[in-house]
Amino acid sequence: MDTADTLRFDNRLIQRLPGDPEPSNQRREVRGAAWSAVMPTPVTAPSTLAVWPEVADLLGLPAGFVDSVDFAEVFAGNALLQGMQPWAANYGGHQFGRWAGQLGDGRAISLGELVAADGRHWELQLKGAGPTPYSRGADGRAVLRSSIREFLCSEAMHHLGVPTTRALSLVGSGEGVLRDMFYDGHPDIEPGAIVCRVAPSFLRFGSFELPASRGEQELLQQMADTCIARDFPELQGSGEALLGDWFGQIAVRSAEMVAHWMRVGFVHGVMNTDNMSVLGLTIDYGPYGWVEDYDPDWTPNTTDAQGRRYRFGTQPQVVFWNLTRLAQALAPLFADVQPLQAGLDAFQATLAACTRRDVAAKLGLSAADAADLQLHQRWQQLMQDGAMDMTLAYRALIGLDVASPDPAVLDGVFYDPARQAAVREPLLQWLHDYATRLRADPLEAAERIARMTRANPLYVLRNWLAQEAIERASEGDMGGVRALQEVLRDPYTERAGLEHYAGRRPAWADHKAGCSMLSCSS
Ligand code: AMP
Ligand code: MG
Repeated sequence: MDTADTLRFDNRLIQRLPGDPEPSNQRREVRGAAWSAVMPTPVTAPSTLAVWPEVADLLGLPAGFVDSVDFAEVFAGNALLQGMQPWAANYGGHQFGRWAGQLGDGRAISLGELVAADGRHWELQLKGAGPTPYSRGADGRAVLRSSIREFLCSEAMHHLGVPTTRALSLVGSGEGVLRDMFYDGHPDIEPGAIVCRVAPSFLRFGSFELPASRGEQELLQQMADTCIARDFPELQGSGEALLGDWFGQIAVRSAEMVAHWMRVGFVHGVMNTDNMSVLGLTIDYGPYGWVEDYDPDWTPNTTDAQGRRYRFGTQPQVVFWNLTRLAQALAPLFADVQPLQAGLDAFQATLAACTRRDVAAKLGLSAADAADLQLHQRWQQLMQDGAMDMTLAYRALIGLDVASPDPAVLDGVFYDPARQAAVREPLLQWLHDYATRLRADPLEAAERIARMTRANPLYVLRNWLAQEAIERASEGDMGGVRALQEVLRDPYTERAGLEHYAGRRPAWADHKAGCSMLSCSS
């Protein structure tokens, strides 16, 4: 492993927080500890299927290492680099509104905190590397299809400017994994894979909820102190004032994150509190999706099809609800809960500010006031009533002739001619009002176009695009994944030859599994 010998690890989380004294990966309740030492379970035939070179660069991995057999061995969980000390984190969570008790990393194993040349620490975490004490009834593995989805979407989001965990590698395990994709009693063997995720920290709201739920106040305090020192070094002060500032930062970052989701049309799908990062990063890519025909009630997650708790339009409210769960968990650390209330208020204020900022940018205005927000709401209603493709509709507005607005610019964005016809009159009126507003705005045309182009992506990871790449990969052809990496790396710049990736959902994908809807089976 010569070429990777220079890499340095400093595993602060497990140095600073109490661990589980039991060494086995037998499933169990783990009390009084934030993590359990656990080794990845080796796989028979690891092979590197794809890498994001920009993430390898961020970490300072030597180029020769990334292309080596050793790389596949390490990022499949078959070998460790000097300084790695694998662990699984302990946490709980509210799932679909109900307290679920201990959950923990059931199939994620952190290898260590790599110290990059610039001093930044990056936790490297394998997903699908075998069972841990937190695996409950499951196998600790992940299938190729869900691993491709996480590998691609993590970086797609990063390049869109959305805070997110990153992805380094996708390694095939050479082993089959048994999954009942439709939960209909017909399980199938599918190819297995392992993704290496990268983030400064994978601490979640549920990391704090679990000790709080058990009355483990000392552990809770230690976790808060460690999180602040490790992940929020910019925060100064001490005691409750510092804790209050920390919660305020979590709230602000969470608001910024979800505002970005709304801007780009991303639906997370499983916003349980165990899937909410305290760093305000998008985390745990499961049955996520991208809004196509605009519908705030849409969710891609079949498990949530009844209640639609995690539908597109309510995501900001769900983040807020999750923050109130976190505030409740942290309350024992405060004599006076006023700072927690202030943090919750900061969420609402930040969300409102981000929304105004993004509406202005998406519509090409220098700033958005209350009347502009109303104008935008009318546009959203038109996208919904007319069944317009969200991504394409905003992009089309960039090309509107402001002097004489012509609805023909929107011709390519509709899914249904009847619904297009139904909104014809109100759309004409809206375009007229919008163009009037643009003419009154101080922004020059070129500035407006640049601003809109930066706020409205053209290439997003539509579920059916991911599905096409997955189907090719299942046949052993990684060309589809590689092509998507190229496209998604630069989502705002229109490029010739990429029309396929900027297309409306084709009819074949309307009701196909993996395209319109996804199960949690992964
Ligand atoms: P999720 O909703 O996918 O974030 O997962 C919720 C919980 O289930 C977490 O504690 C996961 O670690 C665990 N989990 C999900 N899939 C598996 C699996 N295949 N093996 C073990 N644990 C799993
Ligand atoms: Mg999770």
